[in-house]
Amino acid sequence: MSDSNGMHRLDVKWQGLFKDSIDSKPVGYNGSPVTDRALSDTAYYECAYMCPACDETKRFARKPLYPILFKIKTEPIMTKFNDTDCVIFNLFTCPKCHRFFASLKQFGTLDLRDEQLMKPGNYIYPALRELALISEPYGYDEWKALVSKTNGLAIM
Ligand SMILES: [Zn+2]
Repeated sequence: MSDSNGMHRLDVKWQGLFKDSIDSKPVGYNGSPVTDRALSDTAYYECAYMCPACDETKRFARKPLYPILFKIKTEPIMTKFNDTDCVIFNLFTCPKCHRFFASLKQFGTLDLRDEQLMKPGNYIYPALRELALISEPYGYDEWKALVSKTNGLAIM
């Protein structure tokens, strides 16, 4: 579905907006990857972030490991969070807890580009680890349907 600007609209049950809540996978990460058949033959690929909502894999005397998020690159997409129109880009999902995550470009009328890092024509928006929209966990069938629907928003 598109709005009058031609931007896609995505209905995801967003649970909250989290700051600095997502860690990158550690160097030399060797946890057994969690994946799901629903992600095969899609543009989703394993990225560098760990799921902040899942239980960790306990490792004796070492940092705990969490499932890795899968990512698709997208054009800007409109979505609603708490009745506020937001513009998001790049979607992520966790194959274990079935949540979605999104990077934010705009919150209501507030453009989130970082003025300090701004160069002409090259705006830097917060990375997922800095600011993330996090969804509720979905039931498997609903998650699978959303993976398939959002896969259509991927830019290759
Ligand atoms: Zn998870």
